[in-house]
Amino acid sequence: MVSRVIPVDPFDLVIFGGTGDLARRKILPGLFRRFCAGQMPKDARVIGAARGDMSSAEYREFVAEAVAEFGGEGACEDGTLDGFLERMEFVTIDARGDTGWTDLVTLMRDDVVRAFYFSVGPSLFGDLAERLTKHGLTDADSRIVVEKPFGRDLDTAQALNRDLAKHFDERQIYRIDHYLGKETVQNLMAVRFGNMLFEPLWNSQYVDHIQITVAETVGVGGRGEYYDKSGAMRDMVQNHLMQLLCLIAMEPPSKFDPDAVRDEKLKVIRALDAVVPHHIVRGQYEAEGGDPSYREAVGDARSRTESYIAMKVGISNWRWAGTPFYLRTGKRLKARSSEIVVVFKELNHSIFGEAGEHRNELSIRLQPNEGITLGVTIKEPGPGGMRLMNVPLDMSFAEALGPDGADQTDAYERLIMDVIRGNQTLFMRGDEVEAAWAWTDPIIHGWEARGDVPKTYDAGSEGPVDAVQLLARDTRVWRKVTP
Ligand code: NAP
Repeated sequence: MVSRVIPVDPFDLVIFGGTGDLARRKILPGLFRRFCAGQMPKDARVIGAARGDMSSAEYREFVAEAVAEFGGEGACEDGTLDGFLERMEFVTIDARGDTGWTDLVTLMRDDVVRAFYFSVGPSLFGDLAERLTKHGLTDADSRIVVEKPFGRDLDTAQALNRDLAKHFDERQIYRIDHYLGKETVQNLMAVRFGNMLFEPLWNSQYVDHIQITVAETVGVGGRGEYYDKSGAMRDMVQNHLMQLLCLIAMEPPSKFDPDAVRDEKLKVIRALDAVVPHHIVRGQYEAEGGDPSYREAVGDARSRTESYIAMKVGISNWRWAGTPFYLRTGKRLKARSSEIVVVFKELNHSIFGEAGEHRNELSIRLQPNEGITLGVTIKEPGPGGMRLMNVPLDMSFAEALGPDGADQTDAYERLIMDVIRGNQTLFMRGDEVEAAWAWTDPIIHGWEARGDVPKTYDAGSEGPVDAVQLLARDTRVWRKVTP
């Protein structure tokens, strides 16, 4: 199956932080793939902007190297890269000063979509917003894209929202959570709201519990200093896991429209119960072989920041009261795996009368091997009576849809195209972000007030033993973390 590509309108995309790590690894290679696919129009332009002194010719070399390293250049026709590089410009600009702004004004065209990607630290968001308007670079149709972290608590998120709101309407602000750009995450909505089969069962009457796991094998690597001020709660739960939870738990929006979807997500966040301390397990990974422990990696032998978190979360609304959601995420775990599992309740009565659990589980794998598996009960083949077994009905998107159908588009490139199209459905609204922080803040403050110390766990394991206990207390078990 070949995916349909609809070209977007011509655009000028300015990437502030155009020489940074994110631009090099994700944004520029992603744009190149959209160019190859014919989605980025030939007359679109990308303007890198940063303080470093660089000519446009040097920037094209930088982009060519980024594409060679991260772009999948082999998938494109010969000569495509040259065509792409011709669309690149560079301006030396200081977000906090006056250098370069008039150069940018000269470069920008009037008759195309103007988008400004803030791929810089959040401390520069306000400066950029202010200078963009001061220099007359924006109009009512211009868009800005802002990266995570969007604040480190409610106060800082509100301050960022206020800074941006001075210069831009909410409909012009695209807050990126790249999890929302993943194919399977969008499929989650398609599965729920595009099939008659699941939605009638999607409630506490039929669902025993839901597990959301985002497991990484990597440690904090070179991000130790940043990560230690953040931890798994701020870095993963407040944004990515929260977004997954919202999509799984929200009511059907009246239509697939940005505000209708985001209104429903917001209602979920507002219905989240406060989490009691004994429903949370925090962990830090130990050293293994030549690899440092978490504390060694961040250079603080007394660090109390968590590299792992597991929690039991309740949603107080009509649909979900009584159905727990178990969330977990961590670094240096056994496998890289992101998965949502909806575990349905056991049959009220089994006519077969045999012992053993035969429950349906719907597993939605985000990575790797994107796909959906439904566990069903069947008869064990062969003679010898009616013995039951569980088998997976497995739909791997790669197998079902062919090489063009699955995971070919990285989340970033999909989201950037949405920005140009002016579609905010897969971006977080300001009130959503604030509501997520309002729920997260008291949990973090509680740890700080109590001096909570994370448990240790073996690198390469499934996390601290206490996380197993968290479910065992409810006579439940975590799904194995498998690649
Ligand atoms: P980075 O590698 O440190 O790059 C920062 C970029 O900003 C550089 O191009 C830098 O160039 C430019 N810059 C810094 N100060 C500037 C100023 N005053 N005026 C204009 N340009 C300035 O950072 P990054 O990893 O790309 O991350 C960028 C943003 O994305 C951050 O908010 C980060 O949290 C977020 N993010 C990154 C990733 C990732 O995978 N890297 C993932 C998620 C979110 P000059 O020094 O030459 O100015």
